[in-house]
Amino acid sequence: YFFVISLSLILVNRIIVKRDRLKNLAKVKEFEALKLEELNEMKSRFFTNISHEIRTPLTLILGPLEKIIAITRNKQTRMYLNIMHKNANMLHCLINQLLDHEKLETGVMKLRTRQQDLVRLVKKQMMTFIPLAESQGKSLSFNTQLHSVDVYIDNEKLHKIMANVISNAVKFSRKNILIEINKSKPRKIRIGSSKYFKPDTDYICITVSDDGCGIPESEIDKIFDRFYMVKTSDSVVNEGSGIGLSLAKDLVELHYGFIDVESKQGKGSKFYIYLPLGSGHLQVQEIDTEYSDHADITGDDSEHSYIIDNVELHSGNETEKLLILIVEDNKEMILYLRSIFHKDYQLMDATNGVEAYKKAVSRIPDLIISDIMMPGSDGFYLVQKLKSDERTSHIPVILLTAKANMQTKLNGLKLGADDYIIKPFEEKELVARVDNLIVQRNKLRNRFSDKPYNNYYNVPTKLDEEFIKKVTDFIDDHISDQELSVEYLTGMLRMSRMQLHRKLNALTGNSASEFIRKFRLHRAAALLARKSGIVFEVAYQVGFNNLSYFAKCFREEYGVSPSEYMRGSVGEKFLDNS
Ligand code: ADP
Repeated sequence: YFFVISLSLILVNRIIVKRDRLKNLAKVKEFEALKLEELNEMKSRFFTNISHEIRTPLTLILGPLEKIIAITRNKQTRMYLNIMHKNANMLHCLINQLLDHEKLETGVMKLRTRQQDLVRLVKKQMMTFIPLAESQGKSLSFNTQLHSVDVYIDNEKLHKIMANVISNAVKFSRKNILIEINKSKPRKIRIGSSKYFKPDTDYICITVSDDGCGIPESEIDKIFDRFYMVKTSDSVVNEGSGIGLSLAKDLVELHYGFIDVESKQGKGSKFYIYLPLGSGHLQVQEIDTEYSDHADITGDDSEHSYIIDNVELHSGNETEKLLILIVEDNKEMILYLRSIFHKDYQLMDATNGVEAYKKAVSRIPDLIISDIMMPGSDGFYLVQKLKSDERTSHIPVILLTAKANMQTKLNGLKLGADDYIIKPFEEKELVARVDNLIVQRNKLRNRFSDKPYNNYYNVPTKLDEEFIKKVTDFIDDHISDQELSVEYLTGMLRMSRMQLHRKLNALTGNSASEFIRKFRLHRAAALLARKSGIVFEVAYQVGFNNLSYFAKCFREEYGVSPSEYMRGSVGEKFLDNS
């Protein structure tokens, strides 16, 4: 008896101890979860509080920095400034994400949708990630059976959702990322946001799959929590902040949709973004009525451009548009670049350095955007060829590349590239850089057309300086020769009329014949100001044999007749120019 009773007591004791231990464990877990939540809340509060404080000075850093970049000519300084700009921008994005969280939480962020083609939007956004994926040797593809599908979407918010999910997929994938859109019924929702799932609603589903490290079973239900980051595997450096997916989830839910994930450790992950079809779920104020259903198709940067762009554009004022040559071996990238610039520029493209150089010589474009890494002849080859050829040395070149190391940059700049952009680039940034170079060249031209006579310094390259000097010296030597014409110049320079015209126009804003005429007139003005002879003599000395034609041209240039010029003080002003 004694033995049986002792044994029972021991057993009961053990059961009680085990139960207590389990209870304690549950309590500890509960406590841990509570603490984690508190900690996250504290972090969140802290960040949102300081976000406002950080954003203002950051804006005041970014704005002036952009202005300094725009006026900085020294390439090395520009390069450093650009690094600062890129990093300040990254900080800006992070702060904005935190502020978005706050807006979502306090209900300040409102949904403003309009009916748009989801296929087009997602495809377009996918394209912007291709350079990033390629720079890591990964491939990003898009697949859908749907030609188009109209969904009520808040553009900016969809953009943020997709950017977070796609950038994670690119970051964690091994080789491939696939984005799909289909109308399949929602699968059983395990994680993420199921509360919005309505069985009687039709959904469209965007999936983003990768073949990366996957997410461990034990962590998968936490990845949508704010600040949650899975402990990294050895192969991937996880340098995120853990807010991307939580923001994406909130924004999907704001659309009355839901987000879910399926993942196998070591195999990869698949994110599902479900958005409801139709507009029945939306409140009146959530539909933007200022846009008509199809406004977007013809409106801003329409993806139609990807299709139209394959054909050279020939609108009425096409010839007035500046010409950009895009050099890139990736077809999709060409289409993407074309979609950015086709409205404002004439475009042509080439797929390697040799082809690009040939096209540049034959058409003399106003600007060239070139990739560095291309099969055969690369971007460096191209820059070197262009910058050492008198016909093309003036053309500004922007190198576009995924190779972010400093040496590569220096190589490009040393060879004379005018600017450098690292993929992935912000569309706005590239446009700004292009505009900036064009503005610089315009300033140069304006300075020239003001006083072309002595202002042949300050041109883009040494070769251009020599070129302008050669042209001006030649005109100078033959100034009294009435026969001096564009043909003389083309013969001396061994350039075609078109090449000379485009080159001179790019540098000075004048056609070749205008340039000769202005040169003659400026010389005349200088002579008149010095009172070096009567008007007729001066006209004759600078190669005009028709006095009334001389007087007409002179008046056009200086606003006064030659004799008034000689008599008046206006002349004094131009004395310095001679
Ligand atoms: P982060 O800014 O750190 O990327 P997210 O909220 O976007 O933050 O992601 C949270 C965590 O989820 C990440 O730290 C990562 O560990 C995990 N994660 C997200 N997407 C993937 C993916 N496609 N594959 C593997 N892990 C992922």
